[in-house]
Amino acid sequence: MTNPNGRFGQHGGQYISETLMNAVIELEQAYNHYKNDPEFNRELTYLFNEYAGRPSRLYFAEKMARDLGGAKIYLKREDLNHTGAHKINNVLGQALLAKKMGKTRLIAETGAGQHGVAAATAAALLDMECVVFMGEEDTIRQALNVYRMRLLGAEVIPVTTGTATLKDAVSAAMREWTSRIVDTHYCLGSVMGPHPFPTIVRDFQAVISREIKEQLREKEGRLPDAVIACVGGGSNAIGSFYHFIDDPSVRLIGCEAAGRGIDTFETAATINTGRLGIFHGMKSYFCQDKYGQIAPVYSISAGLDYPGIGPEHAYLHDIGRAEYVPVTDAEAVEAFEYLARTEGIIPAIESAHAVAHAMRLAPQLAKDQIVVITISGRGDKDCAAIARYRGEDIHE
Ligand SMILES: *Cc1c(COP(=O)(O)O)cnc(C)c1O
Repeated sequence: MTNPNGRFGQHGGQYISETLMNAVIELEQAYNHYKNDPEFNRELTYLFNEYAGRPSRLYFAEKMARDLGGAKIYLKREDLNHTGAHKINNVLGQALLAKKMGKTRLIAETGAGQHGVAAATAAALLDMECVVFMGEEDTIRQALNVYRMRLLGAEVIPVTTGTATLKDAVSAAMREWTSRIVDTHYCLGSVMGPHPFPTIVRDFQAVISREIKEQLREKEGRLPDAVIACVGGGSNAIGSFYHFIDDPSVRLIGCEAAGRGIDTFETAATINTGRLGIFHGMKSYFCQDKYGQIAPVYSISAGLDYPGIGPEHAYLHDIGRAEYVPVTDAEAVEAFEYLARTEGIIPAIESAHAVAHAMRLAPQLAKDQIVVITISGRGDKDCAAIARYRGEDIHE
């Protein structure tokens, strides 16, 4: 779906300084070579299967389907991957690519710490130095993940500029990459940033839809009627959608974090409340204030509170190929508890946004229709926060 200059319709592109252009051109050339290199692909498949535990299961959620009284429901279990989420797919791909390029050092941004932990994991495995930029606010809120990254051998640098959160960590990592491209690869955490990142990250995450298609063909002999995934930057969603984009009978549904509601200022639902803009090297939709500044965003889910969305999603929205629906904190928490009770699976609060929409949709569908929900990660990390949301204080 990308054209040669990295555009998805009007979105994407490379809105970056000249110094950073050198780095992204080097990356694009290397990627175009290695993506078709059998040895690279053999090594990546080995890491996916033997290290990350792929293929992840496609589980028939029979009890949930019966309880909701509509469509058949399958769960794509990215929560069962090593490190507990889909993020490992991307970091293994990028770390291996960086190593092939002769880089010895990975840098990464992280919000809640999930991508930082995944990047530190890949760096430890592949013997690379790792530096993670994290908003100072987030280092305090997510002290356990800071500890994990250090345990894995990474250095964590607290970022104090701006609101000292995720968007500032991205900016700091980009600045660092500009000043040190010889030995360093910037391992970006989602389908965002300047071209070629949205394409590279999508291709590494597309293993999700490739497996869903094969697994469902085996189990049901057909395509699903809908694929539902949560959207922060959009990497697990585009990975879940990618191999179905050319199958028009498959509805593709992205679930955005509405926070306290899309009619409040405490939201992170970019497609539903944002406007066209340019930030972090790409053109896409962003949550903005009335002056066009990036707006502070909010969601109960730290993994979904990014003020933008990947350019390919913005394009799929423009052409009407995918739908983007808002899901509130309250709905996500209900779904988190529901899946735990019904199937014995505690999803990440991010993934619970997708479960919540499936709970609305499935009852409206016929019994022979099929819905696939991507469970992007496991929910152990969220239990304390959900307990707090319900008024219970359990010390972590
Ligand atoms: C980071 C994260 C997300 C959001 O990132 P995407 O790029 O939108 O996939 C969703 N779920 C989990 C479990 C995460 O860790």
